Amino acid sequence: METLAEFSLRRPASVAEATRLLATPGARALAGGTDLVVNLRRGLEKPAMLVDLAGVPELDALSWSDAGCEIGACVTLARLARDARVRKELPVLAQAAQSVAAPTHRSAATLGGNLCLDTRCVYYNQSEGWRRSNGYCLKRGGETCHVAPRGKRCHAAFSGDVAPALLALEAKVELASPAGGRKIPLAELYRDDGATHLALAPGEFILCVLAPRPALGVHTAYRKVRQRGSIDFPLAGVAVALACAHGRLEELRIALTGTNPRPLLLSGTEELLGKQVDESLLARIAKLVQKQTSPVRTTLVQANYRRQVAAVTAQRLVKELSAL
Ligand code: SF4
Repeated sequence: METLAEFSLRRPASVAEATRLLATPGARALAGGTDLVVNLRRGLEKPAMLVDLAGVPELDALSWSDAGCEIGACVTLARLARDARVRKELPVLAQAAQSVAAPTHRSAATLGGNLCLDTRCVYYNQSEGWRRSNGYCLKRGGETCHVAPRGKRCHAAFSGDVAPALLALEAKVELASPAGGRKIPLAELYRDDGATHLALAPGEFILCVLAPRPALGVHTAYRKVRQRGSIDFPLAGVAVALACAHGRLEELRIALTGTNPRPLLLSGTEELLGKQVDESLLARIAKLVQKQTSPVRTTLVQANYRRQVAAVTAQRLVKELSAL
């Protein structure tokens, strides 16, 4: 790890003050810091100012209404994972939060931080010396992508666990910026480029997430595959929201992480509605997953394994939830 570069640290006490500070050129939002501080220590980012959002009370709120659950960006993953109502009404979200890293990480890591997690690549998440001796790479400081040397695009994988859960729930995010606030579907927060995967304007940050309560009869779950049973990022993570009546699908959303530069809401699932959940339907789901996921050599594990394991995990979850 490198010595931390110099920066100033500001601790706003309100959304208005945070918005004003984050409009400063070179400012960067800090929440739990479980991803950002590691990146700072590796010299991957050198912000002139860190704006610590922990002291903004609105960002730490969690409330329910008829529309569902509104969750502040600084609510910790540990709180989401243990909240009795979240576990009961939004199990996919509680399971995704519970699956992140280890207890100490989850007690600091936040919802907003996990949604804004930087993309990862075995050629990028390394020390300054390692990257320098490798000529850096396209994502920062270099001109070549070591994974796809002929391309001009970064394929680093998004590996946040909570985003697919919220995509399966059709959640929205509320953003704040000096230019004003806006509310967008979560999917619109992401771009399909590992170097610029967040579609946030300069100074813009997440205020809260609005997660609708699933309709009656919709079951949800999240599962991930990783090298070790804890701590590791997903090689593939899958969230499913599904309703089934008399063995036939009435609703189906499948979202994935760990395989593409952005979390992915699978398209084409609407064509499966009304179909019996059987081996032929599960084979169609596997094909959809394999076609739309694009893992490349950004981890120590083979890309094809990640594609296969994503498909199998989606099949298993659909099978299990349709039997409830
Ligand atoms: Fe760098 Fe290529 Fe890895 Fe992106 S995918 S981080 S450009 S090596």
